[in-house]
Amino acid sequence: MAKKLLSVVVPVYNEQEVIDETFRRLSATFKDYFMDIEYIFINDGSKDNTYFKLRDIASSNKEVRVINFARNFGHQIAITAGMDYAKGDAIVIIDADLQDPPQVILQMVDKWKEGYQVVYGKRLQREGETFFKKLTAKVFYRFLDSMTDVKLPVDVGDFRLIDRKVCDAMKCLPERSRYVRGLVSWVGFRQTSVEYHREKRFAGETKYPLSKMLKLAGDGIFSFSYKPLKLATFLGMLVSAFSFIYLIIVLVQRIVKNDVASGWASSMAVSLFLNGVMLIVIGIMGEYVGRIYEEVKARPLYVVGELMGFGEDRDKQE
Ligand code: UDP
Ligand code: MG
Repeated sequence: MAKKLLSVVVPVYNEQEVIDETFRRLSATFKDYFMDIEYIFINDGSKDNTYFKLRDIASSNKEVRVINFARNFGHQIAITAGMDYAKGDAIVIIDADLQDPPQVILQMVDKWKEGYQVVYGKRLQREGETFFKKLTAKVFYRFLDSMTDVKLPVDVGDFRLIDRKVCDAMKCLPERSRYVRGLVSWVGFRQTSVEYHREKRFAGETKYPLSKMLKLAGDGIFSFSYKPLKLATFLGMLVSAFSFIYLIIVLVQRIVKNDVASGWASSMAVSLFLNGVMLIVIGIMGEYVGRIYEEVKARPLYVVGELMGFGEDRDKQE
């Protein structure tokens, strides 16, 4: 029987300090493994020497393929591209910084052999990350789960194994603001988890500044839930109710006491509050309108600048 193929998808952005070690550890993990391995590195528009390091790795290892993006498109898009190009019977997504230990992949493959089609890594402990990051991550995953109708496992990142069938199903989801882990939950299939300790970054620093974290969080919430819109409606109704009651109070005052000139402070308060609420509601609508705009433009998700290690038959350009 022919060996099965495992695709290891690694998104890489400015990781010149770690990339050699990452490849070394990955290949050590799969030395004499019972499956064939292909590595797909997605160079997400790195500005450092990552490109040259990957080129060297690809030229001396025929199982390595590199997708060079024309610019930085972001982690989630990089993963998507990796899944588009992967040929494996199973596909593993792993960060380049060795925070997700390659050894855990072996456990994931065992679960896959048992018949599970999605095996995600559940973080028991996160080392070497700031208190702020851990706290925001913890709060975010729980908040998101409560906001959405799809069941999203908590404390789970993109480190996971997916079966070919799941990968093909995900390719049918062309949406732009991609929250990949949510999409995996959305497609369903037999899912399970393996638990692991998230290590420190091997070298370099996080490529997820607060701005990117917020974007990811926004994509998670607004692409998987329209509860914020319901909340906006609710807020609007609540505020209208209060305003109405206040209106009656004012009218009664006018009729009974006939002095309404005083009240600058209260009218200011009401107007500021109402304007605030309206801005929030408009902002929430804007999040959805912006995403509709992105979808309607229907631009490709990413632009490939150069492919390495794919061979002639695989030069598909997207
Ligand atoms: N990454 C990427 N594009 C980006 C940001 C990050 O491909 O715009 C990659 C990065 O190289 C790493 C993975 O995504 O392999 C996770 O990033 P990082 O480790 O910086 O995130 P953290 O673990 O701090 O959340
Ligand atoms: Mg990391």
